[in-house]
Amino acid sequence: MKTLYAAVLISSIGALAFNSASAQQTAAPQEDPAMKIYRETTPKINDLVHTKLDVRFDYKKRYMYGKEWVTLKPHFYATDSLHLDAQGMDIKNVSIVKAGKNTPLKFTYDSLTIAIKLDRVYHNNESYTVYIDYTSKPNELKAHGSAAITDAKGLYFINPDGTEKDKPTQIWTQGETQSSSAWFPTIDKPNQKTTDEISMTVPKKYVTLSNGRLASQKLNADGTRTDTWKMELPHSPYLFMMAVGDFKITKDTWKGKEVSYYLEPKYAPYARDIFGFTPEVIDFYSKTLGVDYPWNKYSQIVVRDYVSGAMENTSATLHGDYVQATKRELIDAYYSQGRSTIVHELFHQWFGDYVTAESWSNLTVNESFADFSETLWAEHKYGKDAGDAHINGDRQQYLSQPNLKTKDLVRFHYTDKEEVFDAVTYQKGGSILYMLRNYLGNAAFYKGLNIYLKTNAFKNGEAHQLRLAMEEASGRDLNWFFNQWYFGAGHPILNITYKWDDATKTQTVYLNQTQDGNVFILPLAIDVYAGGKMDRRKFWMRNKVDSLVFHSATKPSLVNVDGDKMLLAKKTDNKSLDEFVFQYFNAPLYLDRFEAITAAAKQQSNAGARKVIIAALNDKYYELQIKAIKAADMTNDDVRNAAQPILVKLAQTDPNTLVRAAAISVLGKLKASGLSNLFKESLKSQSYAVQGAALTALSQLNPADAVALAKTYEKDSEGALTQAILMVYATGGTDAQYDYVYNAFNEGAPQTQFNIMSKFAEFTGRVSDPAKAQKGIKAIADFGVKYKKYGIAPQVVQILNGVKESRAKLNDTASVAAIDKAVAELK
Ligand SMILES: [Zn+2]
Repeated sequence: MKTLYAAVLISSIGALAFNSASAQQTAAPQEDPAMKIYRETTPKINDLVHTKLDVRFDYKKRYMYGKEWVTLKPHFYATDSLHLDAQGMDIKNVSIVKAGKNTPLKFTYDSLTIAIKLDRVYHNNESYTVYIDYTSKPNELKAHGSAAITDAKGLYFINPDGTEKDKPTQIWTQGETQSSSAWFPTIDKPNQKTTDEISMTVPKKYVTLSNGRLASQKLNADGTRTDTWKMELPHSPYLFMMAVGDFKITKDTWKGKEVSYYLEPKYAPYARDIFGFTPEVIDFYSKTLGVDYPWNKYSQIVVRDYVSGAMENTSATLHGDYVQATKRELIDAYYSQGRSTIVHELFHQWFGDYVTAESWSNLTVNESFADFSETLWAEHKYGKDAGDAHINGDRQQYLSQPNLKTKDLVRFHYTDKEEVFDAVTYQKGGSILYMLRNYLGNAAFYKGLNIYLKTNAFKNGEAHQLRLAMEEASGRDLNWFFNQWYFGAGHPILNITYKWDDATKTQTVYLNQTQDGNVFILPLAIDVYAGGKMDRRKFWMRNKVDSLVFHSATKPSLVNVDGDKMLLAKKTDNKSLDEFVFQYFNAPLYLDRFEAITAAAKQQSNAGARKVIIAALNDKYYELQIKAIKAADMTNDDVRNAAQPILVKLAQTDPNTLVRAAAISVLGKLKASGLSNLFKESLKSQSYAVQGAALTALSQLNPADAVALAKTYEKDSEGALTQAILMVYATGGTDAQYDYVYNAFNEGAPQTQFNIMSKFAEFTGRVSDPAKAQKGIKAIADFGVKYKKYGIAPQVVQILNGVKESRAKLNDTASVAAIDKAVAELK
């Protein structure tokens, strides 16, 4: 699973340097009694063997009528009873099936579990089949008021009455973590695996999708159709899926297996633009892992109102509609979150679906791998710099959340299982795998993955099995690594200082780990650049304070600790500016150059620093170009004189649209009328990013014309261009433009809402019609309430208070009162 909104908002909050109030709001974990509970793996009393479902839907009532034949066998000990998870259902009949005959069984049901007394004692060499006739009522789950049931409905009816304009009618499911039992009785635990067969009876105008193969389709006399899907290899109940709706299917293949994309008809023309690289990724992962894609087909479907980012249902991944995009939007996508999510869910088909985390405590063997796979694809497809940039983004995402430093990667203690889906399990776990690969070497690491997959195929895995597989492949003991990274918490806080003694020609490197708690054992590569060549020294840091001393004929130009730039640590590297300048031009990696640009950006009065910034405008990796473009201090005459002609060239000819857009943005701020033709030309680009930057640049030259100009682009705008139009309106618009901005905010994706919130608030303060102001205030307050759990409330309160000041000046007492009420609710 990929939880999209949380990641987006957390990074947005971080980007605004918002204080850590959100982190502090969480109670200290040791105070929570739930943290004392050891979350054991669920004991296996009965094992699922086969699950057969026959379902039809009541769109009006939002019910699903189900018949189930579930086959089980005792795991080891003989038993005469069976407990099935079943959330908020009506259970009409429970019977044992023998020779095609149903005999009713005694059972009790408390809205969460069906406790069934079997007809006799069964041993683990025999299986039995139970028939259940039930009604699933996902929209009424909350009414049961159980603490165990949150808003995880399992089965979702989207616009079932067709009353919402511009929204299709759909049904889809979401199983993870334990919501499949809201639509069929099962043992809803990841350490169960079952084959399945699902027959869905639906209005014949709709398409269906489920796990496995479409075995049959049958038209019924009443205008419905029954589709039967069969999954003939075992998988866990949380990976079951169904989807029903008006989707257009586009088909590709990989090694004769169907690879298909289910999209709303409007986006079907772009199916291959969005998903077309899927067979290439399947091929790459199959070869890298030495295990071919294990399922009979791979489908991806995009649905409305999805509750998360995307979900890796076995052979049938479900995406939220953020992944939908037109060909033009995709021009600026590069390795966007949508594209990395596509590869993330695909890697889960091995790590998650083929071998499944045995419990939520061990979620790392699903999610850390899926996270790591995003980097793997980036470096394969876009080069080492792109991979390094991606994994560095992961590290920073984890390190920017200080409340996570007490959380173990393998998490035996938690308040709620949903908490395990955090940046420790995803981004930190991915970074740890990146370190492990570096330590073992690629070949041994991939051999280890191959052993792990083959040993545990169609079964479950935990971190210990991963360690054993890696040890078997490499021949090295890895307890030290797993103890500190998997079964421990936190990360090193590393301070690095250097001393050169010219008299003795001695270089000393002082390494100091300053975090609380245990020392981290760190195998380090230390690259020494002296006398025109580079020497690599291997060093194991085993103490909190360590130093490395060596002789050098001449003073090294650079000592580069962690030469492979693979360390997950908060690092303070006390290099001189000269050393960073040398590093930019001589050390090879993305992070070497990234660190040098960061250091140079702060000291642009220095000639060496300027050399780095100017050179980096043409760095071979586009994200570093953009970093340098944004960092260039255009108020410094030397920087501007050198940078401007380069930026003009980049704006006109760089093959990367995001580089062009960044260059135009910086040039726009110069407000130089001589550049207006460049901006006007750029407005003709197919790239929304380039157009958006150009419109903003023109608005800075002539704010009066910009509102009219923006209007001509309203109809064909997406992404950065929409953003620019909104900014132009919010800054210089009148009441006539207010509703356009209001709608964009009110109906926008969270990221859009976050981006335009402060400008929208300014506009709301200024607009003359109090009724418009009040609906704007409500929209901002609703946003604050919706994302309060991410710590956004104080920021929204601050913004609303700004609006209040402006409305007060306009003597708009009604709006002032509305703000007071909203602020009280947010506190
Ligand atoms: Zn995932």
